[in-house]
Amino acid sequence: MGQPHGRDHALRATSASGEPGQPAAAAAGGPAAAGGPEAGGDLLLAVNNVEVIYEEVILVLRGLSMEVPRGKVVALLGSNGAGKSTTLKAISGLLPSENGEITQGSVVFDGRDVTHADPADIVRLGVSQVMEGRRVFGHLTVEENLIAGAYTRRDAWRDDLEMVYGYFPGLEDRRSSDAGYLSGGEQQMLSIGRALMSTPRLLMLDEPSLGLAPLLVAEIFEIIERLNRELDTTILIVEQNARLALDIADHGYIMENGRIVLDGPADQLGSNPDVQEFYLGLSESGERRSYRDVKHYKRRKRWL
Ligand code: ATP
Repeated sequence: MGQPHGRDHALRATSASGEPGQPAAAAAGGPAAAGGPEAGGDLLLAVNNVEVIYEEVILVLRGLSMEVPRGKVVALLGSNGAGKSTTLKAISGLLPSENGEITQGSVVFDGRDVTHADPADIVRLGVSQVMEGRRVFGHLTVEENLIAGAYTRRDAWRDDLEMVYGYFPGLEDRRSSDAGYLSGGEQQMLSIGRALMSTPRLLMLDEPSLGLAPLLVAEIFEIIERLNRELDTTILIVEQNARLALDIADHGYIMENGRIVLDGPADQLGSNPDVQEFYLGLSESGERRSYRDVKHYKRRKRWL
């Protein structure tokens, strides 16, 4: 297919009363109309009208569609409980371990349907997820954690340890320490480093800023940007901190209640008054709003 974001010049609002989560191409009778885009060419990932149910009854994703072009950084934003982590788990095949299931739609990675694929196979294809909450093996050393990240590889991975230490020099200093004794920031870096050991083509990060001091967050986001630029790693990032994510992203999606409600180029999303008000906490005059005010103004949302 052609340029997936050739229509990037405008924000796209998706009405809840219209086709939920359908990309504009589908509405216009484009390639998505025949069951959704098939990732390949410039498109690395396509999520087509995915529905996810937990415990056979809890409907969380309600026809979610999104695209991630090769080599780009895409931000997925939304409030607590919108379904962002569930979206990442649907892509990486981790839902069955939480008694969740994709019941409709498809996930296509680099031209292959991975909707119900085994998570290890999805890692082998080049998708790696850094889970929320810095999950490291606390009783293993830093280096053992990194080596664990290469478990799906059959090729030589030793040189990649040095590559990871190049991005995170602090980890090299602590290579023999138990990961459980690292600070929160070091554990986040180790989680990202471990994901890099599988040489991902798509790196998915779930709330990398969570609970970290601002300086550390800035450092980590700078490294994420370098990974995209220097290794050409495509990145899908979930963040509560919309400003941070939109600053490094090419394209952004906003989700609510299990579906995409707005998407567009990151700079345009960042300057959209609704996004500023609801996700960046700014009023139209540029002043900061409290969460209370934000909740109050929710009624005015134009995309609902
Ligand atoms: P947060 O930032 O709070 O993690 P999120 O946008 O990532 O929010 P999810 O974690 O995907 O949202 O959760 C979406 C909804 O699905 C929530 O209502 C949550 O309670 C529910 N949910 C998530 N995981 C499970 C599970 N394993 N079993 C049942 N319900 C779940």
